Amino acid sequence: MTATPAPGEAMRLGDLNVRYLPDGVIRAHPLQAYPEHVHLARDSELKLLDEDGMLLLSVGALLVETPVARILIDTGIGPRAIPIPSPDPALAAGVMTGGQLLDSLAAVGLRPDDIDAVLLSHLHADHVGWITPDDDTTRATFPNAEYFVGVGEFDFWGQPANMARLTAPTPQQYSVIGSRRHDLRTGDQPYQGIEALLTPGHTPGHVSFVLSGYGTQRAIVVGDAMHTAAEILHPDMCWTGDLDPRAAVASRHALVGELSRPGTATIGPHFTGTVFPTRAWRSGSDT
Ligand SMILES: [Zn+2]
Repeated sequence: MTATPAPGEAMRLGDLNVRYLPDGVIRAHPLQAYPEHVHLARDSELKLLDEDGMLLLSVGALLVETPVARILIDTGIGPRAIPIPSPDPALAAGVMTGGQLLDSLAAVGLRPDDIDAVLLSHLHADHVGWITPDDDTTRATFPNAEYFVGVGEFDFWGQPANMARLTAPTPQQYSVIGSRRHDLRTGDQPYQGIEALLTPGHTPGHVSFVLSGYGTQRAIVVGDAMHTAAEILHPDMCWTGDLDPRAAVASRHALVGELSRPGTATIGPHFTGTVFPTRAWRSGSDT
């Protein structure tokens, strides 16, 4: 069986409704994505590869509805296709293709102006894609949203050498984020039930989010600290885009420790097949 992208799916966590809203997919050559650990990515048990032998990653947003706010975590690729940078011109590294997010939002009865906040795990292109509706405007797709970013992330992408990267936010997206930006440090709670956990390495200000339910129930949105379930099993694996591999490995090991605590579910927004790979509990159940 070959890999499939995660469907629109939901889970209940205490007062929070958490729903995955698909935007598109990443298809990446496994040799380029995991140059030192490609054999682990090709583990057939994990079903990470599509019919052409490319790694298939889900891309989208998480909608988190609290009793008082509607929040997106990340915003997908947007209406565009972005080639994945390749260090080897002979290797077709892959492509990121998006465009479905607003349709996914409409399918659950919401409009862009219903969104109160956008929490950004980091500012790579496949996470800020819908900050603006296209590349010709600095109009915000989500006009009522505040933006929350891990401390250090915004300044990093403001440096010209980084802004020139293929995976950088567009100047328009960057401008909109900067217009209503709040920085997050570990332990900050931008909304009740949502806590920031800095997990640097993939990018300098990468942040994961701990969602709290009742009692000890919680789920951790790992963002790009983990791209596939293989990285949970093998936290020393480095995705090619991890800007600081040593820090990324340290963050992954720390996350694996957090994820192993009782009552903790994993939410992997890029994971293949499902973004909820563990469901230790569901609505109305403590098991
Ligand atoms: Zn990503």
